[in-house]
Amino acid sequence: MRDFVVELGINEVNSGVGFGDWVEKPKGPELVSYSPIDGKEIARVRTASETDYEYVVEKAEGAFRSWRTTPAPKRGEIVREIGQRLRDKKKILGKLVTLEMGKIAAEGEGEVQEMIDMADYSVGLSRQLYGLTISSERPSHRMMEQWHPLGTIGIVTAFNFPVAVWSWNAMIAAVCGDTMIWKPSSKTPLTAIAVQKIANEVMKAYGLEGVFNLLIGSSKSVGEKMIADPRLPLVSATGSCRMGQRIGEVVGKRLGRSLLELGGNNAIVVMNDANLELASRAILFGAVGTAGQRCTTTRRLVMQEGIALKLTDQLIASYRQVRVGDPLDPKTLMGPLIDRDAAETMMHALKTVKKEGGELLCGGTLLEGKGYESGCYVTPAIVKAHPKMSIVREETFAPILYLFTVKDLDEAIAIHNDVPQGLSSAVFTQNVRAMETFLSPAGSDCGIANVNIGTSGAEIGGAFGGEKATGGGREAGSDSWKAYMRRQTATINYGKELPLAQGIQFGPTPSEAVC
Ligand code: NAD
Repeated sequence: MRDFVVELGINEVNSGVGFGDWVEKPKGPELVSYSPIDGKEIARVRTASETDYEYVVEKAEGAFRSWRTTPAPKRGEIVREIGQRLRDKKKILGKLVTLEMGKIAAEGEGEVQEMIDMADYSVGLSRQLYGLTISSERPSHRMMEQWHPLGTIGIVTAFNFPVAVWSWNAMIAAVCGDTMIWKPSSKTPLTAIAVQKIANEVMKAYGLEGVFNLLIGSSKSVGEKMIADPRLPLVSATGSCRMGQRIGEVVGKRLGRSLLELGGNNAIVVMNDANLELASRAILFGAVGTAGQRCTTTRRLVMQEGIALKLTDQLIASYRQVRVGDPLDPKTLMGPLIDRDAAETMMHALKTVKKEGGELLCGGTLLEGKGYESGCYVTPAIVKAHPKMSIVREETFAPILYLFTVKDLDEAIAIHNDVPQGLSSAVFTQNVRAMETFLSPAGSDCGIANVNIGTSGAEIGGAFGGEKATGGGREAGSDSWKAYMRRQTATINYGKELPLAQGIQFGPTPSEAVC
């Protein structure tokens, strides 16, 4: 803990309310952060009360009034500075992610790298917030589209990417001229505090506050206030489909905008002609990486019958070599699940699938004894299942891979698309027709579709998000920044007449004029 205290400035008891400075003693109840590694308490956080909430929203609104008119490239400069600090702290921050969330050290650092990438990307973006010029039907008129900052936005994040998801939103929102309020998952408050401290230090050096704000509290105390608050024109929320339904409903009722990044139920299709070596490596990373706790985790494997047996055997063999244990040990491939509830949910899903007729081919054990005292360690499971089983249609946030066998690509695509979620998808094939069919309008119905690459590990340059119950939101690259701005169509008349659109003549003709 000492390293974290020195390098990241976190303590044993922390304030969970920051806006540039910290509210010394927020009035909400104390929250304890536990490590899934050993189940022990890491630190305590004082959460936000209603009064703290009001105070921070006012700070953010006040900051917006000047931040919105700061030139975007200047805003980008500040984001560049944040990226630089993240570079300097990459190792220690990655380690904190591992300690609090349980992903292995390489993935913890990878998460911080993703934040750095988002910062770099956003710096470039700060000089690229472009609009269009559109031909006017009226003479001596110019019509254009411009993008303005939206306001103070709400960012709600999930436990599994405790800091990267903040950066997907925050880095872009900041260069777009928005101020923001972040409510992280109550399971990962410390990483949020560490990141907020970094943002605070940079802002202080520029004499600014209120752009990046943090409010730690439960979904009831802070989350529900944010989603119902008309002062937040956009709520960008990452989490389960159930949470997204609630947020979509409440934000929609006040006609606000929501950007929803919700659960996935991602599948890989492997055709007879696939390179099985590539496929099995991608499946292993996709299904076992982050202990199956990625939104893009591979949860279903659809195999053409010619390779099904061989691929299944290969996977079972590699699953048996997966080292489960302390995520800080470099030899470990899979760390713990986030908490005991998650481990129990996995055991329950396995029981259900067996009851429905599924066959457990390997793994699926809850580990006990020395090194596993937290009760959060499991072995990754492979299950022979049927696509119509109800449990297979749900996202169980744990390392369970369901296997199906199909005759051809048509059947594979039908099964692939027959789930409520639509986040990430992949096909392994050497056949151009199969690749293109998978990517065609009649192919995968997901927001992300890959060929000879697994379902997880997206690059930030593309727009990230999914369809159907995954919520339809897009974050990170491409033109996702538009969600954080308001569009304005502006028309300028530089002539001496006032022609109306659609050729409408309006007003008295000169002979009819009465005066
Ligand atoms: P969760 O839904 O339990 O919580 C996510 C966040 O929403 C937390 O901060 C929580 O406090 C908040 N929340 C819950 N109810 C709320 C409410 N009524 N009002 C305001 N805030 C509320 O999810 P989790 O267990 O933390 O994370 C796992 C889930 O997140 C999985 O379903 C995973 O697929 C999804 N996820 C999706 C993406 C994506 O980009 N699509 C990325 C990461 C995680």
